[in-house]
Amino acid sequence: MSEAPDGMLDHLWTEVLVFPHISLLSDEQMGAYFQDFDGQWSAQTKRAMRDHGAVGLELNSNWALERQHWTCPGCARSKPEVFRKSSSDILLAKLELHHDHLWEVATRRPAMVAGADWRDILADGAPFVVENIRSLVVRFEDSLICSECNAADGKAKRALQVDPRFSYSAAEIGRFVKPAPNRDHDIDLDCAREIWDEQRPSFERRILLLEMLVDDLVAGHLQRCREGAIPASRPLMSRVGIEETLRSAFWSASRGTQNYGQLSGLRADFLARSVRKDIPQRAKRKTDTRIPTDDEYQAYIPETAPQAWAGAAEDWTCPCCARTKRSSMRMSAKKKWSGAIRNVAQYPILQDDDEIVLRERLFPDFPNEMHLKEMVWVEVCSDCADVIPRIKQIHRDLPDAHLSLDQMKAVLAGIENHMPHEINFDLAWELAKANFRYRYAGEALSAFSNLKSTFKRQMEFAAKYPEARQDVFERLTFELEVERRIDDPQERKEIMTMLKDDDYRLSRKSHPEGAEHEF
Ligand SMILES: [Zn+2]
Ligand SMILES: [Zn+2]
Ligand SMILES: [Zn+2]
Repeated sequence: MSEAPDGMLDHLWTEVLVFPHISLLSDEQMGAYFQDFDGQWSAQTKRAMRDHGAVGLELNSNWALERQHWTCPGCARSKPEVFRKSSSDILLAKLELHHDHLWEVATRRPAMVAGADWRDILADGAPFVVENIRSLVVRFEDSLICSECNAADGKAKRALQVDPRFSYSAAEIGRFVKPAPNRDHDIDLDCAREIWDEQRPSFERRILLLEMLVDDLVAGHLQRCREGAIPASRPLMSRVGIEETLRSAFWSASRGTQNYGQLSGLRADFLARSVRKDIPQRAKRKTDTRIPTDDEYQAYIPETAPQAWAGAAEDWTCPCCARTKRSSMRMSAKKKWSGAIRNVAQYPILQDDDEIVLRERLFPDFPNEMHLKEMVWVEVCSDCADVIPRIKQIHRDLPDAHLSLDQMKAVLAGIENHMPHEINFDLAWELAKANFRYRYAGEALSAFSNLKSTFKRQMEFAAKYPEARQDVFERLTFELEVERRIDDPQERKEIMTMLKDDDYRLSRKSHPEGAEHEF
């Protein structure tokens, strides 16, 4: 813009936005950039790890997304008071979103009355009426509370055999727990019973009201006509507002660059950096877990990829879950031993700026949000190889789910020997969703690789048969000039040299924007 003649752009104004590369920030810088948030990187978390002598940390995404100076609306404890050590010396830092269980009851009710296809049978606005009924009959807003308060709600209800459709509000939980810093709550059951007795009549009234209102909906008395309705995602009051304007300005400025993908991946990158789920060192073995005997282990040959299993050394460990061959063996439901070593595709991120410049010069039409190196196969245990297929089973809307090895590690919520993995499906979904970038980057990579191997092959051919040299040179020139729109003959020569030698240092020199400034 500095090159525009004076006055040309007077009708525009600009603002420079600065965003961090989360993967390049130190823990201290995380603290500076994400002051309103929390994570394994925060000074507060690290202090607690030290003070409690913890050997590991379990910090969930709710904790990371909530500010460090937070107090529980139930027990009134601060985050430093909520930290507590598990029996295996893991420091727990967990907040839960507590909700009125009448919510689910209300969600299921229309199907119970009008059948599973009630949405098709009833008038168009029926789901909106159900939403309103639901928010009318639930007694409190979803609230972030400490995991001890959330657990206390369930414990009190079970002990007192309270109707499972009932939930104590955060303030009520605060009345019946006896909170102390850094330990689980004791519960005053008499107090919890008192609150249930007190609330029971209105709870029963709300159940009746729910049934009545859903009956009225099914009978057609309650309606919500939707003609001309403003979509909830774009209310009039937000149009040409800050968020909408910023989003579209950013989108049009960053189109075709890696910045758009970086912004849309920011949340997933933040969570991957902040959330932590350490696994107890000596996980207690479930009593019914079968362990292979020496003979069973020696005799075992997996059905899938038996060579990979046999070829892996005795001390091989899975790079994802760190289990050995033997500890990854488990008894299947059909009472047969299972476990194998399988390949998962991994795409390391390209960091070489010279190669990035060359790729974007050759293929400017890809989004080029990020660049990948050639795919490599990584051998993991079959339970780790199953992580992505299992995510796809739950979230069928993710056709291109891909996770990097670090992300796969981050989504393993529980690793035990001779057992399938526990997976944090919410985190996995967040991460896989943000990884749509891999799809375009994968296409850009194969375009570049194809071009490179064609060039190499032809140049090798020309080196062998000098009489073919002119022909080959013309073919490659045509490819670069016409297909790749490289007009400068000197630049084309440099590109050929770079592709031949796998050395991309000339790329920044020949970048056309650099050349223009010389005039
Ligand atoms: Zn609490
Ligand atoms: Zn709850
Ligand atoms: Zn594994």
